[in-house]
Parts: sequence; C-alpha cells; structure tokens
Amino acid sequence: MNDSKLILVLGDQLSPRQPALRQARPGIDVILLAEVWEEASYVRHNRHKIALLFSAMRHFRDELESAGHRVHYITIDQRVPSLEMAVRGVLDSCDVSELLVCEPGEYRLLDELRGWQDALNLPVSVLEDDRFLASHADFAAWADGKKQLRMEFFYRKMRARYQLLMEGSGPAGGKWNYDADNRAGWRNQRDIPDRVDAPIDAITREVIDTVNTHFPENPGDLSHFRLAVTREEVGRQFDWFLEHALADFGRYQDALVEESPWVFHGLISMYINCGLLEPLEVCERVEKAWQQGACSLSTAEGFIRQILGWREYIRGIYWLLMPEYKNRNALSANRPLPNYFWTANTEMRCLSRAIEQSLDHGYAHHIQRLMVIGNFALLTGLDVTEVCDWYLGVYVDAYEWVELPNTLGMALYADNAVIASKPYAASGKYIQKQGNHCQQCQYKPTKVTGPDACPFNSLYWRFIDQHLDRFGGNPRMGLVVANWRKRDPEERAVIVQWADQMIDQWT
Ligand SMILES: Cc1cc2nc3c(=O)[nH]c(=O)nc-3n(C[C@H](O)[C@H](O)[C@H](O)COP(=O)(O)OP(=O)(O)OC[C@H]3O[C@@H](n4cnc5c(N)ncnc54)[C@H](O)[C@@H]3O)c2cc1C
Ligand code: SF4
Repeated sequence: MNDSKLILVLGDQLSPRQPALRQARPGIDVILLAEVWEEASYVRHNRHKIALLFSAMRHFRDELESAGHRVHYITIDQRVPSLEMAVRGVLDSCDVSELLVCEPGEYRLLDELRGWQDALNLPVSVLEDDRFLASHADFAAWADGKKQLRMEFFYRKMRARYQLLMEGSGPAGGKWNYDADNRAGWRNQRDIPDRVDAPIDAITREVIDTVNTHFPENPGDLSHFRLAVTREEVGRQFDWFLEHALADFGRYQDALVEESPWVFHGLISMYINCGLLEPLEVCERVEKAWQQGACSLSTAEGFIRQILGWREYIRGIYWLLMPEYKNRNALSANRPLPNYFWTANTEMRCLSRAIEQSLDHGYAHHIQRLMVIGNFALLTGLDVTEVCDWYLGVYVDAYEWVELPNTLGMALYADNAVIASKPYAASGKYIQKQGNHCQQCQYKPTKVTGPDACPFNSLYWRFIDQHLDRFGGNPRMGLVVANWRKRDPEERAVIVQWADQMIDQWT
C-alpha cells in the first residue's frame, strides 16, 4: 500500500511550523491548497481579505514547491465548490493512505471535517494547532472550577509560563498591567509616520483582478491593496513597526484619530492569524525592544498583553464554549443591521469614519471596533447574529475563533458577562475624550437631547434605563445606575423618549 499522505493546508495555516506540514516529506506526500467557493463566500468577506489569502496561498505554494514538495493547487477559477470536493478531486488522481490536516479556526469547519473519515473512506487526522501559546487542555485546566474567567489572571499565568517581562517570579517593574498609562486621547500630539506599502508583484496583481471579477458585490477597494503576502515581506513590515511606531503604541493605543486609520498600531493580526507571523516571536521581539530602550515598559506590556493575553484567552473561550456560545443573546438584541453599515453613510462622524475604513481597507483598530461600532450596536440593540456576521465579513483578520468572542462577548455583552465584567457602553463624552472626530461632526457631544445632540448620549442613558435591574447589582456599574436613579423622573423620561426617537431614526 502506498504510504503517501495527503496534507490539506487551509488558507489561514500558511506556516511551515503548523503540525500537519511539519510531517510533510518532500517528494512523498501531497500537499493540497484550495481556493474554494464555500469558504470564500459563506459571509460577505472583504475583498482585501480574499486577496490577501489567495495571494499568500499562491506564494506559499511556490515556497513549498521550491522546498521539493508535491503541491496540488486549486484556484477559484476552477470553481470547486467546497474543501471536501477539492479533497475528492485529489483522491481521484493520487493514491494516498491518510489525510492530515491542522485543526481549523472555526467550529463550522471542524464539525464538517469530523464527517470526512466516513464520507471519504480514508483515515483523517485532525492535529491540534500548536502555534497557539495555550493548548485546549491548558485553557480548560485553567478555566476548570472558576466562577469567572477573567483575562487578567489567565494572562499572568501566561507571562510566568513564557517568562515574558518577568523579574524572577514577579512582573517586570512590579506591576502586571500598565493599562492606566495607555489611554491618552488624541490631540494631534505627534506626527503619525506614513506606513510603507508592501510591493505588488505579478501574482498579487493577478489575484486582485480575479477577486474583483468574482466578488464584485463585496466590500473593499483593491485599488489601494497594501498588504504583505509573504513571510519575508511581513517580517519587513514588522521591523518597520518596531522602529517607527512601537514607541508610541502604548500611549495612543486607545486614541481615535480623524486623520489616520492606523495610528501607531501593529497592523499584524491579519498576518499572525493566517500563519505569516509567529505570535511568540512577536512578543519576544517587543520584549527585546524594551530591554534595548526602544520603548517604555508600559508600551511593551500593553502590546504583549494583547497577544499573549487577549488573543490566547479569546481563542480559549471560543473552543471552551462552542457551539452553544454562538447562540447567546443575553440582552435580547434583535434590531436589523442598518444599511449604512454597508455604505458608511451616516452623519455620526466617528461611526462613519470607522465603518468607511473597515469597508475600504478591512481594518479598524480595537477602540473603533469596540467603543465606536460595537458600542453603537450595543446601545441600539442590533441583532447579535447580524452584527457578528458583519464583523466576520468586513475585517481582513476575521476568523470565527477570534471574531465571535470579541463581538458577541466583549462588544455586545451577549454572552452574559463571560468576557466582560460590565458592558463596554459609553456616551459621546468618551469618544470626545479619546479623539478628534467630534470636531468634524454635526452633533455636539455635550448635548443629550435636541436635533444637534450627540446620539450616543441619549442612547447611553436609554441603555442604562432599559437594563436597570440587570446592572443595578453590578459593582462596576453601581455608581452610574445610582446616578441615573437619582435624576428627576421627568428629566429621565425626556431623555429616554428622545433616545427612542433616535433609535427609530438610526436603525
Ligand atoms: C468587536 C471586535 C471584533 C474583533 N474582531 C477581531 C477579528 O476578527 N480578528 C482579530 O484578529 N482581532 C479582532 N479583534 C481584536 C482587535 O481589535 C484586533 O486584533 C486589532 O484591532 C488588530 O489590529 P492590529 O494588528 O493593528 O492590533 P494592535 O493594536 O497592534 O494589537 C496587537 C495584536 O494584539 C492582538 N489582539 C489585540 N486585541 C485582541 C483581542 N481582543 N483579541 C484577539 N487578539 C487581540 C492582535 O493579534 C493584534 O494584532 C476584535 C475586537 C473587537 C472589539
Ligand atoms: S458628536 Fe457624537 S456622533 Fe459625533 S463624532 Fe462625537 S461622539 Fe460621534
């Protein structure tokens, strides 16, 4: 019997370090990479994401072939409907004894793979993705028996385990978390350096044409496609970040900036998530930058926490609680998604800027996703599934394992306080404090009612009013709820009534 194996590599597994490829024997095993319709269209993916993945996959194919591997590559033009059909196509022409695949990042696909062994009449091994820094077993052991699964405590364990920013058994500088130093609002304090676009080669040019042809209705303007598609180029982009942006990352991490979608952010999630950059290496390089004096401890800690803490924790929650997690809707939010989520055509300046760049570039930084778009969806009670599908579609870094807990849990509070101990709800005051959008807006963040009042203000109080019983007993919400209760009932009624009108106008 032929002992050649078929190794299926998914579009977000483009790393020679992933477990299935570590077993690949050049010239013996067959590697399959496939651009298939089902995966490219199960939500309305941003064209930047499709172009990034198709081009990175094609470059990865070339890299594997140069290393002597036998690669079977299917392009989207071949119109293969699904991954299963792609595998069947290879099995028709190659004799293999087993199918190996690194576990996918989405429950939907894992569930599908579980049926393949019978459907294909072939042994199928799904290998755990050990590029993540906490395994499923690690996370389950940490979560076991805990009443609350707070990221902060998981993060401390991870810091100690990987010995990042540690002094002996304690945290460098004496504190685990320097978040309080990392919340400056934007008042044009600094010049923001221009990003260096990655070069576009013939493969990427062809992919851009293909994506424009096959996905004409999807968001994303590929005339300014700027993403790196090879490990080498991603490395250069990350070097640029370390040299030119890291030093200001921490301080302005939460800033909302009218002039720049990127501010001082890393712009690396899309690369880490598809395998072109390794999370541990990123953390180690940032630690080294701090040791060499290139950034402050609060910046290094703030950055490492995002990857070693948040990224791993979010993934842990996803696999711990799926598939039931996806159906949660603790606040019974079910208003349809307004059409301007697909056009950015709204007078609310902060929202329109955040949506516009999300659609055009497939990117918005964390505070835009959480405190502008997510906050608006939370306050207006937009349908949880529709909002999650929107996030999964528009961002270049979106895969369900990371998108869902962030959106459903962190932004919409629909998981009933698993991720967030209180809802990330805020009025226009917060958005004004964090940046300079309000200066360009027709609304006034200081006003609560009236035609020129910032809609976020009355919507915020309506949200508190609507959920008084639920949040009254929450120690982190107690003060806000008590203040609202103390206000004159007539004044409260006017604000809530105004907000009701706003909701009808804006949703
Ligand atoms: C509603 C909502 C939806 C989100 N959806 C996604 C998503 O689909 N894919 C995704 O990768 N991130 C998602 N995030 C997390 C975060 O917003 C993005 O990782 C970040 O904005 C990516 O930009 P960056 O690379 O410039 O990040 P930076 O600000 O430079 O941060 C560095 C890195 O930290 C990691 N990180 C930071 N926060 C998180 C987090 N909460 N969860 C996971 N990783 C984190 C990312 O890998 C990121 O690249 C979401 C956040 C919210 C609030
Ligand atoms: S006034 Fe309100 S809607 Fe306008 S930019 Fe400020 S926070 Fe956003």
